[in-house]
Amino acid sequence: VTFSYTIDATVHTITRVRIAIMGKKTIRDLGEFGAIDRIKKLLPTADNVVEGIGDDCAVVRVGAQLLLLSCDASIEGVHFDQAYMPPKEIGWKAATAALSDIAAMGGTAKFALVTLAAPSTTEETLIEALFQGIAEAATACGAVVVGGDMTSNPSGIILDISVIGEPTKDGRYLTRSGAQPGDLLAVTGHPGESAAGLHAFQRNNEAPALQAAHCIPTARIAEGQYFASHTDVHAMLDSSDGLLQDAAHIAKASDLGLNIDSAKLPISSTLQEYARAQDVTPESYALNGGEDYELIIALAPQDAEKRIAEFNKTFDIRLNIVGTFTDAHTKVLVDGAPTKTQGYQHFQTPD
Ligand SMILES: [Mg+2]
Repeated sequence: VTFSYTIDATVHTITRVRIAIMGKKTIRDLGEFGAIDRIKKLLPTADNVVEGIGDDCAVVRVGAQLLLLSCDASIEGVHFDQAYMPPKEIGWKAATAALSDIAAMGGTAKFALVTLAAPSTTEETLIEALFQGIAEAATACGAVVVGGDMTSNPSGIILDISVIGEPTKDGRYLTRSGAQPGDLLAVTGHPGESAAGLHAFQRNNEAPALQAAHCIPTARIAEGQYFASHTDVHAMLDSSDGLLQDAAHIAKASDLGLNIDSAKLPISSTLQEYARAQDVTPESYALNGGEDYELIIALAPQDAEKRIAEFNKTFDIRLNIVGTFTDAHTKVLVDGAPTKTQGYQHFQTPD
């Protein structure tokens, strides 16, 4: 008894010393998803909240109607750099990132609200160009901007865009949970190109196609609706933080594991060439690069080939199988080997 008490006391002392050295826990210690888990516990919910915090959109019931709600912030110095992106593209991308969360549920985009914070010295033409980009992205998705807020911010431009959408006509939408063991992991387009484009900007390399993928991504609204209206698609999200990390979110929400087959990653010849020239593997861009806004789905293995053939006939982007969901809870593997997700982590880099 005395002995174990001594151990307890020692552990207690060590813990106190550690706290004294390390100081108070910060949001960096918690990480984005740890912080969300904490906040979730503080916020009461209500009967008409169908899907609360934790997915790409919240789903709420207003009368007989289900609505999809989300918002997304784009911060100068974090999400964009005016040295690389003209203001119209900054607006386009900020709106697309928000609208992509509607696509990620399989919804139709309806309305957007825009909060703009900017230094008081910001030129009128820059503000107009931002909103031209926002308007074009919203129009491309069938949404209209119906309001917002404007405030000054001495330290740069912030766009925070809220979006409101509807599920499919028969009230269907897809969440991150619902994947089954044996489901195939599939992704649209060419993940990794946006990150390679950013790399090209930062190194002053010439890579127009990759740079365009970084600046003017597309929200996959029609593709998302297609997936939500077919019952063999079990789960979905959009790739904003990197294929590996985002696919792992489906695995976690569905209480499954995941194995990605790196040989199946849909790497374009453009990305292949760029990565080779930079002495980086194209697979690392495809697995870890963020901001592609492609759709990642869990697809039932039965008739998957048919589903993929039909998708590829219907849309001008390709759907590719890149892995399998397994029953090994939250174990994320690449080519059968354990891996650390390296996608974008907010709060993990110094301010
Ligand atoms: Mg998302």
